[in-house]
Amino acid sequence: MATRKVDYLLIGGGLASANCARWLREEGAGGEVLLVGREPDPPYNRPNCSKGYLRGEETREEAYFRPNEWWQEQNVELLTRTSVSALDVQSRTVKLSNKEEIEFDKALIATGANVRRLNVDGCELEQIHYLRTLGNADAIREGVADAEEVVLIGGSYIGCEVAASLTLLGKNCTIVMQEQATLERGFGARAGRFFQGLLESHGVRVHGGDELERFEGNGRVAKVVTRGGLELAADAVVIGAGVMPDVQLAQKAGLQIGERGGVRCSSRLESSVPGVFAAGDICEYDSVVHGGEPMRIEHWDVAFNHGKTAALNMLGRDLAHEEVPYFFSVLADWGELEYVGPAYEWDEEIVLGSIEDGAFTNWYLKDGVVRAALTFGRSDDLDHARRLLAGGVMLDEAERRGLRDRDTDLNTIGR
Ligand SMILES: Cc1cc2nc3c(=O)[nH]c(=O)nc-3n(C[C@H](O)[C@H](O)[C@H](O)COP(=O)(O)OP(=O)(O)OC[C@H]3O[C@@H](n4cnc5c(N)ncnc54)[C@H](O)[C@@H]3O)c2cc1C
Repeated sequence: MATRKVDYLLIGGGLASANCARWLREEGAGGEVLLVGREPDPPYNRPNCSKGYLRGEETREEAYFRPNEWWQEQNVELLTRTSVSALDVQSRTVKLSNKEEIEFDKALIATGANVRRLNVDGCELEQIHYLRTLGNADAIREGVADAEEVVLIGGSYIGCEVAASLTLLGKNCTIVMQEQATLERGFGARAGRFFQGLLESHGVRVHGGDELERFEGNGRVAKVVTRGGLELAADAVVIGAGVMPDVQLAQKAGLQIGERGGVRCSSRLESSVPGVFAAGDICEYDSVVHGGEPMRIEHWDVAFNHGKTAALNMLGRDLAHEEVPYFFSVLADWGELEYVGPAYEWDEEIVLGSIEDGAFTNWYLKDGVVRAALTFGRSDDLDHARRLLAGGVMLDEAERRGLRDRDTDLNTIGR
């Protein structure tokens, strides 16, 4: 027997749930809204964890999605430090770790992702960190306080952003990664080399084409040994080896899981169970801006916008999620990249501006159609990229030439 019933149950205390709660109320939802999250903090912006908050430049509260009093003002009940331990889609009830059983009318599942852990010799040593939460950022900041040498495992966003932040804090940072160049998996070798050059120009050492073999130390980590034979001194290590969508609860409940490992959803973000929606990192939805292709994307803006679309659809609006996925990454105060896409494959890259001069847009095309754009210092190009991507127009030779010509009015391309 359920202890009580709510109209809207939001499972997971992250950005997607928080923005869903906001839009439910903004669009006039009456009734009870309950958000359940297992972390001690109210919903917050994770990007701060590798940037200003990690460097001690921002307070914890500055990372919060909304100030504490906002939740009361909106009449949204927030249960922190509480897990949803079971979801029963037949009886439309959940069990909570505080032993409560809640019945719901509509539910959102937005349980986010967990870091991928590397199980190598020495991985239990002290001062080996992962980064997902504010608590992890606290532990890293405290852990590197007396460190000189910090080794980052992984050359993607977390590795690069943390290397940049810790360099600003005066640490000697070294990245070890499988890729040849930082960030090349998402952006290709040429752009990857640019970002690596930017990091190196600020003193970050980068070892590509290599892999972690083991850690050594006595209680606390002292050395990183790689498969390629490097032995790197390390007073602390931060591992950024990707994340896995946290679909445990959804899977146990019998929700369909997709090929990209997420909760399989329609373009309306509704799961295989009517009235149960998914959003954010775990949501694998039919993306109308990608011709219906299933997408699962682990970025701030996507989680934010999913929260809104899910809220509107919980209110019966029947709207497809039509936002072109966008993301950003910040390397200390050295620069910020922005990207719309994503392109999982492409056969042509066209550069507008100059990669060498650090002001460029790199267009990614497949069969003559723009699939993605990466920009550094040319944000205004992004709206054109969104239009071209969503339009799916095949560009002719002259239009493709125009994409690299600074004098072209991008408005004229793909019309
Ligand atoms: C350090 C860091 C930096 C980042 N920087 C950027 C950036 O610069 N740009 C960018 O675009 N993206 C960035 N991201 C990614 C972005 O923050 C995520 O895509 C976004 O937070 C996903 O939101 P979400 O709501 O789907 O999941 P999450 O934010 O992961 O929230 C899910 C929450 O649900 C909780 N939960 C899970 N299971 C249960 C359960 N059973 N019961 C209750 N609660 C549960 C989890 O503990 C978690 O608090 C960054 C991520 C990290 C970790």
